[in-house]
Amino acid sequence: MSAVQRQSRFERSDDVVVMKFGGTSVEDAAAIRRLFGIVRSRLGSRPVLVVSALARVTDQLLEAGNAAAAGHLGSALAIVRNIYVRHEQLADSLVDESAYSVLDGELRGEFRELESLLHGLEASCELTLKSRTLCWASGERFSSRLLKEALCQAGIKAAHVDAQACIVTDARHAGAGPVWDVTEQRLQENVIPLLESGHVPVLGGFIALTSDGVPTTLGRGGSDFSAAIVAAALCASRLEIWTDVDGIMTADPKICADAHLIRKMSFDEAEELAHFGAKVLHPATLAPAMRENIPVHVLNSRRPEGEGTEILARAKTGNLVSAITAKRKVAVVEIESAGGVDSEFLRAVSAVFDRHSCAVDLMALSLGRMSLLVGSAASLPAIAGDLRGVAEVRWENHKALVCLVGESIRRHPDVASRVFAAVSDMDVRVICQGASDRTISFLVEESNVEESVQRLHGVFFPQPEPARDWGGINSAFCQAG
Ligand code: ADP
Ligand code: ASP
Ligand code: MG
Repeated sequence: MSAVQRQSRFERSDDVVVMKFGGTSVEDAAAIRRLFGIVRSRLGSRPVLVVSALARVTDQLLEAGNAAAAGHLGSALAIVRNIYVRHEQLADSLVDESAYSVLDGELRGEFRELESLLHGLEASCELTLKSRTLCWASGERFSSRLLKEALCQAGIKAAHVDAQACIVTDARHAGAGPVWDVTEQRLQENVIPLLESGHVPVLGGFIALTSDGVPTTLGRGGSDFSAAIVAAALCASRLEIWTDVDGIMTADPKICADAHLIRKMSFDEAEELAHFGAKVLHPATLAPAMRENIPVHVLNSRRPEGEGTEILARAKTGNLVSAITAKRKVAVVEIESAGGVDSEFLRAVSAVFDRHSCAVDLMALSLGRMSLLVGSAASLPAIAGDLRGVAEVRWENHKALVCLVGESIRRHPDVASRVFAAVSDMDVRVICQGASDRTISFLVEESNVEESVQRLHGVFFPQPEPARDWGGINSAFCQAG
């Protein structure tokens, strides 16, 4: 049967819910047992699970790769050994003896491959993008196999689906994008028969392959994006992102203790928030959901009874400023050209940034000079080298972009003046009124980021319940609207 026929047999009315569980939602046996309860409550809606690596494993895999490439094979192997023991102990507490021996065989095979990769890295003294991807991919390969076995043991008929056999991407190793046609077809071919036979399919998030079979990842935090790809391919009726906070909040609760839950917001606003650093969603997650008009729910796996945040096409938060976020590790790049900045120059510069997979955030032009913001300075020395003779490239590190998001925030000039007033004593470098109406952002020293977000939160969300604040700017907007 062709993919098109399958698609037409499997429409939105065939309820499918895609549920993504982040690292903290599978971090230990207690978290995984909570997950069983959550999945049981969705069995009537044909759940498909997408799972991250156990909390902290991706960072540890990177640490192991770096250590091996730096010649510290012993410490690299010790890190990987600890990861293996953690998985083995989890398996031991979640599955019975016969399932354990099968699972342990699979895990040992995966770990042997990882160990030989580390030996290779020690010999080559280099952690290329490709080998970093190979290290990283193990995390989700382990967690998805473990979770499938644990679900079966808990009486939930689960089946493992190899995400790398389904999600096909371009070759950008650390932040690839899907090749949609083939990915949709493979997901439908691999997942739909399992749903039809009453299984709960389990896929590892984050990981994929190019059409030539080279491993890739969808970028840090990319399991959210994997889940959105799966949801779009299956025309799911709902995408659930299960994490460690109650939903999308007015600010990162790790920065603002009085941040409060946003119950509903639009795809557009959520996308801006994610793009400007709100880690709770990978920035690419919303596009596939938006395209297929699939509601996205962000929920707390530690408090599954909570309502969470619902993200829909036209939802409104009811506040002028919906949330405040910050993107760290930003670098400001100045590119100066003696020959002036024309379209040919812009093309040449953009080709060099593309070649080094360096995504540009914001750009300003003036006579003979461009200013850019980039999310990482790592490739700037190489970029400056490639542009030598064409332009002079200088940059400053350790900046952060603080961003206010709200549906039509730019149409209210009083917001910008309140922002200025709140941070007037700080070294504010650039005020950027975003390309859309929905953001106002400014650059500060990274060391000032927490203070600026807290101050702005105090200004725009003066009480935990802004709806009751009849004197504040948000309520003024509610009344007017
Ligand atoms: P997961 O492992 O489940 O993918 P992440 O750590 O990637 O979880 O994302 C959840 C984290 O996002 C939260 O613990 C929180 O600190 C952070 N975060 C940043 N901004 C926000 C926000 N506006 N609302 C909620 N959480 C946020
Ligand atoms: N494990 C990956 C990371 O930590 C992907 C994810 O968790 O979404 O970035
Ligand atoms: Mg995440």
